[in-house]
Amino acid sequence: MNDIVPNVLELLVCPRCHQQLTWAYEASELVCTGPACGLAYPVRGGIPILVEDEARAARA
Ligand SMILES: [Zn+2]
Repeated sequence: MNDIVPNVLELLVCPRCHQQLTWAYEASELVCTGPACGLAYPVRGGIPILVEDEARAARA
């Protein structure tokens, strides 16, 4: 599951706070870098699901 190229990752932003996302390899998630946000979005079949309803809070 390393088929997300870095170029694509740079284009993706959190739909809630519009900060950049980082790829959490073990969890197959894209984690928001926004300090006040921290949502983690699932990646299914190499496709990031950038939907707030599908995300979980990676940070309390
Ligand atoms: Zn965010």
